[in-house]
Amino acid sequence: MEGKLYAGEDYKKEFDPQDNLKTYYAFDSGTVAENEILKFNLKNLFQTFSSGGVGGDILIDIGSGPTIYQLLSACEAFREIIVSDYTEQNLWELEKWLKKEPGAYDWSPAVQYVCELEGDRSRCQEKESRLRRTVTQLLKCDVTQPHPLAPAQVPPADCVLTLLALESACPDADAYRAAIRGLVSLLKPGGHLVTMAALRSKHYMVGAKKFFGLPLEKETVEKAVQEAGCQVLRCEYCPISYSEVHSTNEGICFVVARKGPRA
Ligand code: SAH
Repeated sequence: MEGKLYAGEDYKKEFDPQDNLKTYYAFDSGTVAENEILKFNLKNLFQTFSSGGVGGDILIDIGSGPTIYQLLSACEAFREIIVSDYTEQNLWELEKWLKKEPGAYDWSPAVQYVCELEGDRSRCQEKESRLRRTVTQLLKCDVTQPHPLAPAQVPPADCVLTLLALESACPDADAYRAAIRGLVSLLKPGGHLVTMAALRSKHYMVGAKKFFGLPLEKETVEKAVQEAGCQVLRCEYCPISYSEVHSTNEGICFVVARKGPRA
């Protein structure tokens, strides 16, 4: 589909949370690739936060969008979670779920999947309550700024998490590297950066609207993380791509890194 390619500040007006949820997180819609990518993420997040030893006081999720799936394992490993996004409408959508308001998105299939991974499929309600208690702040963020959460003041974090947001927000590879540096600056020394990216993307659809996607290679992601002063502990590449009607990406990758003492 041709038409305008949205990017940058367009997110504030054009990104529709409901359309994003329907496009990528409709569990029974037959969009097999989208479900596979979600499961890949949930498995990797489970591994990282349940058995991988990444945990602590504060986790900051950057570019959360309207989604909470990325926090389902993390909420067991952190005392406090701060979520953030560039747009008001995504923060409202998150708030709806956190406050169990009418019209909130139903994440129960993802919750169930994570509870099964964690070995107790009867814990779904308890996990949802735990996540709702653990999220203490919803903040605006902009990863194109050196202080992505400014003007909010946050304590140094034990973990910064960001999934599928940097390749949407950064216009080029230099901006991507700078954004990674900005995220690393939010971490304590020894803290972890956990990121997942769609690779080789050019654009992706949110409902009928086309948004810019920065084409990244796995090596670009790893190198940016290293140059920002982190040691890459794990970099999991997976050749799955989103449905062609939704995105032009080729493969995805999931990276866990640790900030060194002098970064
Ligand atoms: N993390 C979610 C959302 C990905 S969609 C998920 O895993 O599905 C891309 C997100 O990037 C949107 O929520 C959008 O608001 C956010 N975004 C766009 N520009 C941004 C910027 N400059 N800084 C931070 N986030 C941005």
